[in-house]
Amino acid sequence: MADFGFTEAHEILRNEIRSFARKELAPEAKKRAKLNHIPRDVAKKVAALGLTGMNLPAEYGGQQADWVSLGVATEELAKVDMAASILPMCSIVPCLMLMDGPLALQKELIPKIIKYDKIVCFGLTEPGCGSDALAIQTKAVRDGDYYIINGEKTSITRATQAEAILVIAKTDPKAGAKGITCFYVPYDLPGVSTSRFEDTGWKPFERGSVTFDNVRVPVEYRVGDEGRAFYNTMNKFDWTRSMLGLQALGAAQASLDEAIAYARERVAFGQPIAKFEGVSFKLSHDATLITAARLLAYKALWLRDHGLPHTKEAAMTKYWCPEVALRVIHDCLLTHGHNGFSEELPFEQRLRDVIGHEMGDGSAEVQKTIITRELFGKEYVAYS
Ligand SMILES: Cc1cc2nc3c(=O)[nH]c(=O)nc-3n(C[C@H](O)[C@H](O)[C@H](O)COP(=O)(O)OP(=O)(O)OC[C@H]3O[C@@H](n4cnc5c(N)ncnc54)[C@H](O)[C@@H]3O)c2cc1C
Repeated sequence: MADFGFTEAHEILRNEIRSFARKELAPEAKKRAKLNHIPRDVAKKVAALGLTGMNLPAEYGGQQADWVSLGVATEELAKVDMAASILPMCSIVPCLMLMDGPLALQKELIPKIIKYDKIVCFGLTEPGCGSDALAIQTKAVRDGDYYIINGEKTSITRATQAEAILVIAKTDPKAGAKGITCFYVPYDLPGVSTSRFEDTGWKPFERGSVTFDNVRVPVEYRVGDEGRAFYNTMNKFDWTRSMLGLQALGAAQASLDEAIAYARERVAFGQPIAKFEGVSFKLSHDATLITAARLLAYKALWLRDHGLPHTKEAAMTKYWCPEVALRVIHDCLLTHGHNGFSEELPFEQRLRDVIGHEMGDGSAEVQKTIITRELFGKEYVAYS
């Protein structure tokens, strides 16, 4: 990494998002975290700042910003409102996927997704497989000008609040990774049904399942060529891993700031508890962990901005940042003593959210497989 600083533009953006988050999001953030939806006016405010299309081309209404900028914005939002910080990623993912697809779909959908006028979710995971993505069973069979899709996608973020899904299905089950294709499927097509989970964290994102029962999808809704979806999906999304990392770290940094403030004030044995090294060293160690993990996350984004390989760094970020965040938030909860154990304070909710970050976009074990492949070569990975 050539330089460790942020540019002036990044700092201006950070300050802008920080004041927005404090003014517009902070007052109701805790209440919203318990809802099973994101109020439209709140999502619209995030969209109005340009964050839901930050890295997309200007002709679609995007900001053409660099990936570090998206990281900065995401981290600042996460310090105040986890759901708001996840939103930009959720919008940019389907837009990037659609950019492999027909121009007509891109022009119709991307500007709406960016403005939060349309919600499109993404479905890869199935009841029978998650980590082993090549084992998906959902099939799309060509029938004249249509594909007929059957199968079930599960664990889908915003499954029930979306109006459509980008679904990954097998068009040639014998062709392995080369037999997997992406389709845009509006929910109003006959045969699509959805159901919602009661989740531990990420509550406003209504994770759930989407089922396809003989759904006839016009050929024009195929996103990209047949057999390209696996590579398109895997190649494009290393940046989401840094976003998940920075979301988790934003929550950890907020917890640390609160714990330091509390430790300065809370008195035990006649002294502020910050004077006890059992407290201050623990939080100092946590600050060190956050600093190191942030550097890793931003390095992955910086490499991406410079067109350099970053798959390994993205995988490291994805598994390590949530791990760090869980430890830090837990320490901060304990620093608050019995008060920290109450729902009145945000620690329990942050812990619940960050457990979601551990799993979403691939578990720690899967990330370590990727790192192993990058370090040793793919012949040293025990499974593909
Ligand atoms: C909050 C959240 C949001 C999500 N959003 C979406 C979404 O929008 N769209 C979508 O398609 N999916 C989504 N997912 C699903 C997510 O991608 C999967 O949960 C993830 O890929 C893991 O798959 P699985 O849950 O089926 O676990 P499994 O693959 O069944 O794994 C179970 C356990 O076994 C371990 N394991 C599996 N294989 C190996 C191995 N070879 N070596 C070592 N350990 C192994 C895993 O690490 C894990 O601990 C989301 C998940 C969460 C939690």
